[in-house]
Amino acid sequence: MKLVIVGTGYVGLVSGLCFAEFGFETVCVDRDVSRIDSLKKGECPFYEPGLINLLNKHLKETKLLSLSTSLVNSMAGADIVFITVGTPTKKSEDEADLTAVYEVAENIADNIKKYCLVVTKSTVPVGTTKEINKIIEKKVKKENFNVVANPEFLREGSAISDFMRPDRVVIGCDSIKAENIMRELYRPLFLLETPIVSTTIESAEIIKYASNSFLATKIAFINQVADLCEIVGGNVQDVAKAMGLDKRIGSKFLHAGPGFGGSCFPKDVKAFISTAKKFDVDLSIIDSVNRSNLNRPKQIISKIRKQFNNNLLDKTFSILGLSFKPNTDDVRDSTSIMIAESLYKEGAIIKAYDPKAMENAKEILPNIHYSDSINESCIGVDAIIIATEWNEFRALNFKLLKEQMKDYIIFDLRNIYNEDEITNLGFVYCGIGK
Ligand code: NAD
Repeated sequence: MKLVIVGTGYVGLVSGLCFAEFGFETVCVDRDVSRIDSLKKGECPFYEPGLINLLNKHLKETKLLSLSTSLVNSMAGADIVFITVGTPTKKSEDEADLTAVYEVAENIADNIKKYCLVVTKSTVPVGTTKEINKIIEKKVKKENFNVVANPEFLREGSAISDFMRPDRVVIGCDSIKAENIMRELYRPLFLLETPIVSTTIESAEIIKYASNSFLATKIAFINQVADLCEIVGGNVQDVAKAMGLDKRIGSKFLHAGPGFGGSCFPKDVKAFISTAKKFDVDLSIIDSVNRSNLNRPKQIISKIRKQFNNNLLDKTFSILGLSFKPNTDDVRDSTSIMIAESLYKEGAIIKAYDPKAMENAKEILPNIHYSDSINESCIGVDAIIIATEWNEFRALNFKLLKEQMKDYIIFDLRNIYNEDEITNLGFVYCGIGK
């Protein structure tokens, strides 16, 4: 089978390389010329553990992967074409912007010459895949194509293993032929007994948004419980641990912190609310999740401000971690960046360090000081803010750092450290929900 993947970003590149790893001939297409050029040289445009090795393996050794800026050339002989372009929030409203998805669908329609599956892997609101069907139907005979919704659940930072060992694969389609082709595509996962959920196109589209919104709800929920703990003398980590031991609840996504960020949860939650509004359905639970999460960085700032008698002017902070989570350089909707920006706007001096995300952060926050190491970022600061839980922040040498700092305050926004241990070293410790 020949696969074409349109949109060579986090999802498109990982999918393309993992399909090549399954043994399929794969072409990754992107309109971004510099992105394709650097990929052709074996350079990854973003950081994802293990990706560079897979890229070089399938580009140079197996030659199963090719890269192109031309959909026209790539589509020749294609059996399956995946749409993996971005679906960001529209500028003016909370809806998903489907411009790129529909543009690609038009281009695909112009280039189908023999039977081909058109698969939406981008996260798209319910109804989008059927809309794509309509676009293609105008130009291509019905017997020459089928559409499929095959949402992607990989997480940045562990994208390859998530793709190769998924909890489930969702296939939404209304044709036996299409379903059989998709099952053949994912056959390498049968050995792992990966559940394949076959469903309608509409259900497949909803599954993705419902899953992300549910996970976002768990985070927003535990953050509000953390607020209560702080006031009444509870410890949110103990509360979450005991809650999570209940198998009906589960321990994942019950970590209180600075709120969820990243390229998916914030935009997907908003798009899901927007879909509900469009169909006049009450999704007020998700609406309040969104509102409480939007408020979360403001709450963190006010906590930090309080520690400095409500005056941040000329206070100096070291922010450790800028990516929205560890093991990625993705800073889209990162709460660390929001916090750094707010502190800066209030007159604070910000020094920051991140193992991988500083180049991306510089594009959004050019005015703060970027450090080459944890140590350097802590010289002369009043406080350290641990904003992202990268492994290298889990065993900080506090004795050494204390020697460099002006004042000794630790804001542990990820609850990595034990309060007593840090306090015994002579620091003021401010965790979340304890
Ligand atoms: P991305 O921004 O990293 O990549 C999108 C790519 O598409 C870019 O390289 C861009 O140049 C390219 N592109 C845009 N328009 C194009 C066009 N007309 N023709 C060719 N290429 C075009 O996006 P992403 O993070 O990979 O997300 C893609 C989709 O997958 C989104 O819907 C997202 O919600 C979903 N998703 C993302 C993740 C994740 O962790 N990033 C996980 C699951 C699902």
